[in-house]
Amino acid sequence: MVRDNLPAPVGAGVYNVYTGDLAGSTVPTAAQLGLEPPRFCAECGRRMVVQVRPDGWWATCSRHGRVDSTDLDRRR
Ligand SMILES: [Zn+2]
Repeated sequence: MVRDNLPAPVGAGVYNVYTGDLAGSTVPTAAQLGLEPPRFCAECGRRMVVQVRPDGWWATCSRHGRVDSTDLDRRR
């Protein structure tokens, strides 16, 4: 199931954002992402550049762009 309220690098649901394996239907919720930043792009499976801050994180896929945890908060 694709959650259209999440950006593609975390919400596409093609790859597991924590393991990089094909995910099938495993799409993390914004709440889960708030606790643990994604490591892999959900759309293409590339390892993302992740920076953790005291108030959240951002993760960048070289192809699909950056996702910031504050963007997820805003979409709740
Ligand atoms: Zn990507």
